[in-house]
Order: sequence, then C-alpha cells, then structure tokens
Amino acid sequence: MAVPQNKVSKARRNWRRSHHALSAGNPGECDNCGELKRPHHVCPSCGHYADREVIAQADEIDLDEDAA
Ligand SMILES: [Zn+2]
Repeated sequence: MAVPQNKVSKARRNWRRSHHALSAGNPGECDNCGELKRPHHVCPSCGHYADREVIAQADEIDLDEDAA
C-alpha cells in the first residue's frame, strides 16, 4: 500500500480543502405550480416539465377504476 512520504501540514491540508465548499443550487420557479424546482428537472411537486405533465401525481390517479 502506498504510504505518504511526508506529513501534510495543516496549512497545506487546509489550502487544498479551501476548494471543497459546496455552492448553493440555482432553483427556479415551476411554470405550472410556482414551486421552486431544479433547472432542467421535472418538478417534484406537480410532475410537469416544459408545460406538460410527465409524471402522474398520486392524488390524480383513480384507484377504483377497473383497468381490465
Ligand atoms: Zn410544478
């Protein structure tokens, strides 16, 4: 197993980690329901993408309907 030849100083370690911070996302409003959603993703609250419904919502499905 490879073993580091030299101890990494706190300064060098922290300098390396100075680039590890996560940046906030850039959410936009859904055109259908107005909820915040990730850009280029289906809206998680209404299932719409680009003005059309691509994921049916659970409360819109009629479970009593006879599918056969
Ligand atoms: Zn939506």
